Amino acid sequence: MPGKRRVGILMEVFNDRASRPEKTPRYAVLDFDGTISLIREGWQQIMTPYFTDELYNTPRGREMPYEEVELICREFITRTTGIQTIYQCIRLAELITEYGGTPQDPQAYKDEYSRRLLKKIDDRLNGLENGSIDPETLTVPGSYALLEMLLSHGVTLYLASGTDEEHVKNEARLLRVDRFFGPHIYGAQREYRTFSKKLVIERILTRNNISGAELIGFGDGYVEIENVREAGGFAIGAATNEHDRMGVDEWKRERLISAGANIIVPDFRNIGALEAQLF
Ligand SMILES: [Mg+2]
Repeated sequence: MPGKRRVGILMEVFNDRASRPEKTPRYAVLDFDGTISLIREGWQQIMTPYFTDELYNTPRGREMPYEEVELICREFITRTTGIQTIYQCIRLAELITEYGGTPQDPQAYKDEYSRRLLKKIDDRLNGLENGSIDPETLTVPGSYALLEMLLSHGVTLYLASGTDEEHVKNEARLLRVDRFFGPHIYGAQREYRTFSKKLVIERILTRNNISGAELIGFGDGYVEIENVREAGGFAIGAATNEHDRMGVDEWKRERLISAGANIIVPDFRNIGALEAQLF
C-alpha cells in the first residue's frame, strides 16, 4: 500500500516541477491551522458530517446514498481548505439550492459550525491558557525550529489564515509563535471580501517590490498552495497527519500535489534537509 511505504519519509520532490526556489527566499507566507497549529485539529470531522447532514436533507440528497453525499462534501471541503470558512458555507448553500433545498444564510452555517468546533477545542484552549498543556504538543512537529530557521536566514514571516483574525491572533499567542510574525498576522474579517490569502501575497510583493520568485509559502490546504504558485513562488505542502502528529495524511498529500506543491513534507522534524533544499 503506497501510504505505508511513505510513512517515515522526510521530503518528497517531483520530476515535473522545480524542487528548489528560483531565488533566495526573502518572504514567507504560512498558513496557520494544520501547518503550524493543531489547536483546531479535527475540524474536518466537525464540518464534514454537519455539511453532509444539511445536504442530505434536501429533495435530491435524500435520493442518494448518504455515503455519496458525504464524499461530495468531503471533496469540496478539501478543495476549499485554506479559504475563509464563510466561503465554504456559501458553497454549501449553493449546493443545497442545486439539490432542490432552501438554504439558510451562509453566516448561520458558519455560526453553527463554529459553535460545534469551539466545543471540541475548548479544553485545548483552556489548557494552553492555564498552562496544563505544553504548547509544543499542539503544533505540527518542528514548527518552532522551522520558524527560527527561516528567521535566521533573514526571511520576513507572514501568517495568513482563513480562520477569524481575532482567533488566529489569540491562538498564535497561546502557542507562542506570535513573536515570529510581529505585526504580520492576518485572518478572516467580518467583511470577508476585504481579506484573502491571495491579497496578503499581492501586498507582500507590491509593498516590498519583490518578485514571486523570492516568496515561499507553507500550507496544508489547496488554496495557499495555489496562491503561492500563481504568484510565482515556491510552495511547501505540509501533509501532516494531524491526529497522530506522525506520518503523512494521504488524502492531504494527494491534493497538495495536485494543487501544485513543489515539495511535500510530513512535518518539520527534518529541518536540516528542508533548510538545505530552500537556501
Ligand atoms: Mg490549514
